[in-house]
Amino acid sequence: MKHIKVVDLLNNTKTLQEVTAKGWVRTFRNNQFIALNDGSTIQNIQCVVDFENTSEETLRRITTGAAVAVTGTLQESQGKGQKVEIQVTKLEILGDSDAEKYPIQPKKHSLEFLRENAHLRVRTNAFGAIMRVRSALSFAVHQYFQERGFFYVNTPIITGSDAEGAGEMFRVTALPFDGTPRDEEGKVDFKKDFFGKETNLTVSGQLEAETYAMALGQVYTFGPTFRAENSNTSRHLAEFWMIEPEVAFNDLDANMDLAEDFIKYVVRYAVEKCADDLQFLEQRLADEEKQKPQAERSEMSLLEKLNFVLENNFKRVSYTEAIDILKSSTPNKKKKFQYLIDEWGADLQSEHERYLVEKHFKCPVILFDYPAKIKAFYMRLNEDEKTVRAMDILFPGIGEIVGGSQREERYDVLIEKMKALNIPEEEMWWYLDTRRFGSAIHSGFGLGFERLVLFVTGMTNIRDVIPFPRTPQNAEF
Ligand code: ATP
Ligand code: MG
Ligand code: MG
Ligand code: MG
Repeated sequence: MKHIKVVDLLNNTKTLQEVTAKGWVRTFRNNQFIALNDGSTIQNIQCVVDFENTSEETLRRITTGAAVAVTGTLQESQGKGQKVEIQVTKLEILGDSDAEKYPIQPKKHSLEFLRENAHLRVRTNAFGAIMRVRSALSFAVHQYFQERGFFYVNTPIITGSDAEGAGEMFRVTALPFDGTPRDEEGKVDFKKDFFGKETNLTVSGQLEAETYAMALGQVYTFGPTFRAENSNTSRHLAEFWMIEPEVAFNDLDANMDLAEDFIKYVVRYAVEKCADDLQFLEQRLADEEKQKPQAERSEMSLLEKLNFVLENNFKRVSYTEAIDILKSSTPNKKKKFQYLIDEWGADLQSEHERYLVEKHFKCPVILFDYPAKIKAFYMRLNEDEKTVRAMDILFPGIGEIVGGSQREERYDVLIEKMKALNIPEEEMWWYLDTRRFGSAIHSGFGLGFERLVLFVTGMTNIRDVIPFPRTPQNAEF
């Protein structure tokens, strides 16, 4: 008999029919009640075993983690919290699970412990919920852009240019460890390697996406990016997924509009499609908040936070205004921020960003018109010649979630910038071609997908929103 997903069984109102479900045992109570989960929903379906007519051996093998197939009639449930249950007539153990050795016990495990069992943690309620939300958000990303006539572009994972990621790149080589060709100075001779030059894993698909925007008009990438981040933070991964739209003829204001509209769309999609999962995560978060001292507790629940973002405009503030605010604020009564930002032109630290978002504006903030010196070479220089048309979107609890800009479309200005930064023209000839042939203003942004998932799920460590996190000293799986 064909099995039916638990999510469909639970929504079924036609009782008294014979059904089969397949999944994994979460708990087995009183030799009678199996809580069966098949991953299709956070909810388990209760399966009532006829223990008098079931062999002792089978009953013994119904352990937490075991894979089972149950057939029986779908009945209205007497238990609270569930409408239907299965009165089991046939039970088959598909795969045993040694209850004593099984790492995922029916209790709350620490997130640290679960990270060490990244291959099994998705069997917990929390990680099942997180990964379903992640999947829904991925789908919403494509749906948003596809519905608006953007084209999905796959930019290369292995790149031959390193203009963007100085110092943060992972090198790609096909050379064997021994017998590596070396030049006279003893350095690896990449000319003799697979690609005939030094290659790296991409840190961003932007530069390539720009070339496509200048032909297809509106494009987006959604792919893995790699950065050898050498610090251990709760916001950085060495391998993460980035969404990068790029639009011809859009200026910075249009870019901000797009980013805000896009974020609201995907968050709304998750709120609507993942109600059960988000409710669970909200409760989980509320329980965690209760452990904290009153003063540190969040005023809003998870869904309140998500709805707040949906219902309010992001606050748009120039870098210069932000510096003024920070200069005159006293974040912890005694100390001002000043000592860190004496000079106009300094990059904001995350404590500044968090202050602006969480304490001052109390809503998502779009900071724009940053000093040229602290931003990448390709950003459009403003008429003041000091600032560039850059924007960062800052979120409560997360900090930077988006980095974007209007791109420098003027060939001469771009060349000047590259010279000043020692970026070799000959390596970037293909990028410069977009400015030589039919150049036009264009803009785009990069949104770190895991930071979005962090925000929507209310989790606090980026390692907990990607199936197999890659961080320094950690590539176990
Ligand atoms: P940060 O200041 O947090 O290090 P960034 O300014 O270096 O970020 P960008 O180059 O602007 O990052 O990349 C665009 C987006 O990609 C960021 O806004 C962020 O959402 C995400 N991102 C950047 N680095 C990482 C990382 N190591 N892990 C996960 N997401 C990241
Ligand atoms: Mg960074
Ligand atoms: Mg940054
Ligand atoms: Mg950035």
